[in-house]
Amino acid sequence: AQHNINRLISNCILKVKVTADQKRQAIVKRLVDEPISAEFDYDKIEQLVLNILSNAIKYSGEEGIIEIDLKSYEKTFDLVIKDNGIGIPEEDMNRIFERFYRVDKARSRMLGGTGLGLSIAKEIAEAHGGAIGIQSVYGHGTVVTINLPYTQGVGNSETNVV
Ligand code: ATP
Ligand code: MG
Repeated sequence: AQHNINRLISNCILKVKVTADQKRQAIVKRLVDEPISAEFDYDKIEQLVLNILSNAIKYSGEEGIIEIDLKSYEKTFDLVIKDNGIGIPEEDMNRIFERFYRVDKARSRMLGGTGLGLSIAKEIAEAHGGAIGIQSVYGHGTVVTINLPYTQGVGNSETNVV
């Protein structure tokens, strides 16, 4: 079904607000003015965004700043979630989407989690004909870009490529 993306993002922020507030982190969202809607499974995309957003909170320190940008293109849109947290070491970058893979066992154990968040996020994005990318500078921060199509099917499945 069709869903308003701005509303989904606002709802996700509400859900993580208590945790972010505890660390006095700011969540800044820069959404496009007109309400944009897209076709997706609301619960799945909400889980995708929450997985990424909760990582940004978990792997950022006190008073961290988390920025959410929405960028609209002709057939797809980008949801960009940026944090100024601990970052990911270069040597771990090619493995973080693997199930149960966690960077630095000591730091991960301390923060809790199972190492499934990113692999689930990737599965959901791909099941919607989208993709997820991650850029990080160790010690400085991480940027996750979720790219999703506005409509499912036409123009997205392999048989429909123009
Ligand atoms: P779970 O999400 O299952 O609770 P997790 O957060 O450890 O556990 P993932 O979300 O899959 O698992 O992330 C995998 C690893 O990637 C994490 O252990 C963490 O080290 C690293 N990571 C993910 N997002 C970030 C981020 N925004 N900043 C720094 N490191 C990150
Ligand atoms: Mg996680």
